[in-house]
Amino acid sequence: MNIIHISAECYPVAKAGGLADVVGALPKYQNQLDVTCSVIMPFYNNHFTLNNSFETIFSDTLELGSESFDFSIKKSININLGFELFFVDVNELTYKKYIYSDNDTQRFLSFQIATLDWLLSLQEKPDIIHVHDHHTGLIPFMMTQSFKYDGLKYIPTILTIHNAQYQGWFPHHHVYLIPTFNIANIGLLDWGNQINPLATAIKCAWKVTTVSPAYMEELKQNANGLESLLSHESNKCVGILNGIDWNEWNTETDQNLEKNYNINSLVEGKKANKNWLCKKFNLDINKPLFAFIGRLVGEKGADLFTNIFRKALVENDISILLLGSGDKGTENELCKINNKNYNHYIGYNEKLAHIIYAGADFLLMPSRVEPCGLNQMYSLRYGTVPVVSKIGGLKDTIIDISLENGFGITHNNVSVSSVTDAIVRAKVFYNDNEKFNQNRKKIMQIDYSWNKSASDYVALYKTLKN
Ligand code: ADP
Repeated sequence: MNIIHISAECYPVAKAGGLADVVGALPKYQNQLDVTCSVIMPFYNNHFTLNNSFETIFSDTLELGSESFDFSIKKSININLGFELFFVDVNELTYKKYIYSDNDTQRFLSFQIATLDWLLSLQEKPDIIHVHDHHTGLIPFMMTQSFKYDGLKYIPTILTIHNAQYQGWFPHHHVYLIPTFNIANIGLLDWGNQINPLATAIKCAWKVTTVSPAYMEELKQNANGLESLLSHESNKCVGILNGIDWNEWNTETDQNLEKNYNINSLVEGKKANKNWLCKKFNLDINKPLFAFIGRLVGEKGADLFTNIFRKALVENDISILLLGSGDKGTENELCKINNKNYNHYIGYNEKLAHIIYAGADFLLMPSRVEPCGLNQMYSLRYGTVPVVSKIGGLKDTIIDISLENGFGITHNNVSVSSVTDAIVRAKVFYNDNEKFNQNRKKIMQIDYSWNKSASDYVALYKTLKN
């Protein structure tokens, strides 16, 4: 069975968040099962495309409303990622330094149209088309409604929702950008008087998955306007927990770390990485180090960080280190925290993220919305105790230390006091050195790799082909 994943992000080519990690790992694990997976994504102007070689395998011109754009499909040739990787190069639209901007309608439509034009030209079509998030959400619609893609009509489609907050809305007067379709079904494009690619994909895909079972349930109550649609379509929806790439995220081989370690050498290994962080960020190695890594947005609770950090630092003998970027107001507020036990790196830094997972004692994730969350899984794998809100994938993956088999710290609400209370509990746990170290060993062995989830997806594909 041949599966093609269509996505705006894929690690290590282009990453803004968890979507890239998933699309960069899931196909690799699926290829170890009895299916063949490849990925197609836009050809951005970035470090990866500048430093690798590509072969053009298809060229054509696509129509976007009244405009025409030449495009090519490229294949990467000198790198083995565990799956074949294809790119859509619509020079004027995709070849930019950024992944996302404020107005991406034309960009992602051209990506989707070029992908379908190419798939239509293939002698051997894929057996399943797996689209990810709103950037590829019009594909299931175009395949079934646009006359030119009649040849793809019967290929099953799967949509995975990584984040339902972002839906790719654009106004109805841009409908002319979509290849001519059966106008009787124009309603499939609409949700709330706008064209809504995510809603359209939920309506048109054969199956819809979310990245954790708890998120699937939460979306029926809170999905940025899509609640009733998801409840209505619930028969074709299923939550499959994301995994992490155990080879990429491996404390014994991770090239980013100051010192590699395993369960037996975890105390020295983590200490060496913590030492590096504390030197670099001028923090005291003897205090428990709490870290945050991620996008500085409301979903992650970032608007509360300044107040949480100030209160936690006054009440506890701890250090806090933050790596992230996002909302400019939050970034400015964080820069104003003047405390010798706090520091940050505003920006994106993959290497630093790895060292933080290794060197921190606790990872903070006070998220309001967390479809799956990968950071808590990386943190477990690196022996760092997650302190998380009980939401979405965090609820599915972290058990509080007060419960049987517990290993993390969880809190119910996302408020300054609930997070600082959780930090106090974490600090007490840290002070019990023996128990704390035993727990670190235990969490390093929890298997949240893709092994199970990759086969859950394959089982789902098989239900569509029978
Ligand atoms: P989301 O996709 O909502 O941003 P996830 O937890 O699913 O959150 O995935 C986040 C991924 O992005 C993780 O691999 C995390 O390490 C990485 N990440 C987020 N922000 C940064 C940053 N500023 N620097 C380095 N890595 C980051």
